[in-house]
Amino acid sequence: MTQQNQIKEEEIDPNYVCESCGFTLEERKCKLMCKRCGYFRSCSDLF
Ligand SMILES: [Zn+2]
Repeated sequence: MTQQNQIKEEEIDPNYVCESCGFTLEERKCKLMCKRCGYFRSCSDLF
């Protein structure tokens, strides 16, 4: 059995979802940024 074509979807942490538009936030150093609406927050807010 090969698993070559199996694409594992990354689990999206709810903390990584934009509060304003629901888009996935991108991690940038210590900030989470939304590419769609420009929303961002500091990683330190999460922990
Ligand atoms: Zn957004």
